[in-house]
Amino acid sequence: MIPGARLILLGRQGAGKGTQCVRLSRHFVVPHISTGDMLRAAVREGTELGVMAKRVMDQGNLVGDDIMVGIVRERLSQPDTMGRGYILDGFPRTVPQAMALDEITAELPLDVVLDLDVPREMVLERLSARRVCRDCGTNYVANGSEKHPWICEVCGGDVMHRDDDTPEAIDHRLDLYEQQTSPLIEYYSEHGRLAVIDGLGHPDEVFRRLTASVDAARRPT
Ligand code: AMP
Repeated sequence: MIPGARLILLGRQGAGKGTQCVRLSRHFVVPHISTGDMLRAAVREGTELGVMAKRVMDQGNLVGDDIMVGIVRERLSQPDTMGRGYILDGFPRTVPQAMALDEITAELPLDVVLDLDVPREMVLERLSARRVCRDCGTNYVANGSEKHPWICEVCGGDVMHRDDDTPEAIDHRLDLYEQQTSPLIEYYSEHGRLAVIDGLGHPDEVFRRLTASVDAARRPT
């Protein structure tokens, strides 16, 4: 049986992170914890968190660290993640979030932090054409030739264009990534837990690189 895993997948939005996270979660049989999906669910449910998050997300800004850390702390205390592990997608996004995560995971540390590396110029176009399944989180890049563009090929769920995928919000999010999220690369490489994965190429090949890197990180030295 394939062992579980405790992973973070970092990377610019549009790098193919969401799709690879879905695949990794199936491969290692662990929950895919996407903080963006959790916030979008709160928006749909119209909770207090959702109303606040929608405003912040539509502007392409980040939700406050304390709120995000609280959400993730709660999720990582559930039996499924305590047992087999998890894959974190979209968290941490700032150094204070990473520090809080270190404290949350002190007893069961991460196996490895993967950075899916795709240059900024390459992701802009992909993001504008991005569609995402509301139910299973599979990402698509629309090219106009789809037979059923709004039905998910994986689970049959509703495929949607994200409200925050406007050119202005995308550009702003990529700036925020450089300012607030890219310092995480240094943070994790200093702690010796980072593996940088080339995100260019066929998605199957990128997936193979990701799983090989997780396996290598877990091999006893
Ligand atoms: P994502 O689906 O990961 O692109 O997240 C969509 C939006 O949710 C982001 O642009 C942020 O506004 C918000 N968000 C998701 N995760 C976080 C986080 N860890 N910290 C702050 N804001 C977040």
